[in-house]
Amino acid sequence: MKIIDAHIHFCQESYFDQIAELAGHKNTGAHLEEQYAAHNIVHGVVMGNRSLQLSEHHYPDYLSYCIGLDSYCFKEQEVKRQADMVEKHLQRKNCVGIKLYPGYNHFYIYNPEFEPFYQLVMHYKKPVAVHTGLTATSNALLKYSHPLILDEAAVRYPQVQFIMCHIGNPWLVDAVAVIEKNKNVAADLSGILEGRIDSMADFFNRKHGYINYLKVWMEYLDNYDRLIFGTDWPLANLCNYIEFVAHIIPERHHDKVFFDNANRIYGLGL
Ligand SMILES: [Zn+2]
Repeated sequence: MKIIDAHIHFCQESYFDQIAELAGHKNTGAHLEEQYAAHNIVHGVVMGNRSLQLSEHHYPDYLSYCIGLDSYCFKEQEVKRQADMVEKHLQRKNCVGIKLYPGYNHFYIYNPEFEPFYQLVMHYKKPVAVHTGLTATSNALLKYSHPLILDEAAVRYPQVQFIMCHIGNPWLVDAVAVIEKNKNVAADLSGILEGRIDSMADFFNRKHGYINYLKVWMEYLDNYDRLIFGTDWPLANLCNYIEFVAHIIPERHHDKVFFDNANRIYGLGL
């Protein structure tokens, strides 16, 4: 089975180096490429971090990226300046969308000051990926990363395709309600595991209640056209992650969730 990993981070920083080690990986392009080949992962989508400079976003052919606004600032001159920079990214073929980090940056994604970025994605017909659910740092604010924030954004911008990253975990019921109601909202299944798990059989046993809860709400949603595989590399072990998603998604939907949906929603043309 061919796989697209639709949510990774490709950042050469000591923080990412350390979490890669915990996942049994090395945070290098060479190791990623080798691991992708070993697991038939034919393409990855980088969730951008840090700089908006074009020169800071060069990726090998097997990766596309979403330009990440992870230090977003609402000052009026700043919005214009950042929107101009974001537009230059969206003009590139390998830039397949925008990534927002509202919990970390303390803003509601439907805030009117944010309008210029929505105008851009509507013009370039590229999606908006949004970090939802728990955050990795304690100074983030969960009210901005709750999956319900996507409901208002999806209604205000019906032409925009949203991707709810991490399916709002652990607010799965709220996430599923938003996805079911809004046709322009998909979700990626990344960020649920971290580190390396020695025995997945043991993990499924120990987390039986939680895994079952995930399956129950996926089954309730019953829409496998809008769920996307992603690993949040380098946070989790790739082999573990493939086994995990294969376990929670019924086998007849694997082709869609592991490949087709990301290819269509991010317009990868694979
Ligand atoms: Zn991520």
